[in-house]
Amino acid sequence: MTATVIDGKAFAAKVRGQVADHVARLKEAHGITPGLAVVLVGEDPASQVYVRSKGKMTVEVGMKSVEHRLDADASEADLLAVVKALNEDPEIHGILVQLPLPGHLNEDLVINSIDPAKDVDGFHISNVGLLGTGQKSMVPCTPLGCLMMLRDHHGSLSGLNAVVIGRSNIVGKPMAQLLLGDSCTVTIAHSRTKDIEAKVREADVVVAAVGRPEMVTGDWIKPGATVIDVGINRIDAPEKGEGKTRLVGDCDYDSCAAVAGAITPVPGGVGPMTIACLLANTVTACCRANGLAEPEGLTA
Ligand code: NDP
Repeated sequence: MTATVIDGKAFAAKVRGQVADHVARLKEAHGITPGLAVVLVGEDPASQVYVRSKGKMTVEVGMKSVEHRLDADASEADLLAVVKALNEDPEIHGILVQLPLPGHLNEDLVINSIDPAKDVDGFHISNVGLLGTGQKSMVPCTPLGCLMMLRDHHGSLSGLNAVVIGRSNIVGKPMAQLLLGDSCTVTIAHSRTKDIEAKVREADVVVAAVGRPEMVTGDWIKPGATVIDVGINRIDAPEKGEGKTRLVGDCDYDSCAAVAGAITPVPGGVGPMTIACLLANTVTACCRANGLAEPEGLTA
């Protein structure tokens, strides 16, 4: 079997198009422009790249983009004051504090200071609790993107066996909650799981969010299963020349694609969906804040 490639880049472009359409309708019918604020503390190069591309895409879909940059040695009080001002700003519907924060800042405290209704990353403890109890919440962007691709590919996920590898708060746990919400039978595997291969072999849906390059190989995969590879790992690529690197996922693409029914590539799979879902969450937050109908298909 050769797997169908789930094209995350194309899917993300479609989601951004839906967001842009909804933004245009909000402006036209209600005079409202959704606003997303991103707060960056310090000079971490990877974070700077993320923040730049988030800002660019926010503007491209017609939303207002605001950036707040604080020095790496900013105090917790300074950062909390920025978040408070954004919480109170009626033109801002989504707030994202770029993680990781410098070590002297308490991430939990800062995230939980964001108004949960504006918490477009879905990391606030209220949103975590709402998701865990199956209530309407802001859903973390990466798992939301995975869910959208799975729903699109399968239609209904009800009754499927799903294995999520990884139990982080930002990917593994919310992913498992979302799959449970769609009536999958869910197993969460992690570094202490015994005989992980055997568990994965039972799965109709595998979501790998581990951070270990090409850990999942084709002999772990049930023929015809759907493989969602969240991992982004940079490895040496001597075949491209000295000192060169390339990106790989947590799944060994070639061997998994030979057995799976469908698979997301790395790059070009889950990655592009994450920013698209951030924009989707912002427009959803804006609609909720104004008591308007939410865009269809852009929430869990
Ligand atoms: P974390 O490091 O927070 O979590 C990794 C999880 O993998 C942990 O639960 C850990 O288990 C588990 N794990 C580690 N080693 C093994 C093993 N040998 N067998 C089974 N489980 C193992 O990572 P994140 O969840 O933040 O990210 C996971 C991957 O996804 C990374 O590659 C990251 O770059 C990528 N990512 C991609 C995004 C995107 O937009 N595409 C967004 C976010 C992340 P334990 O809890 O027991 O330690």
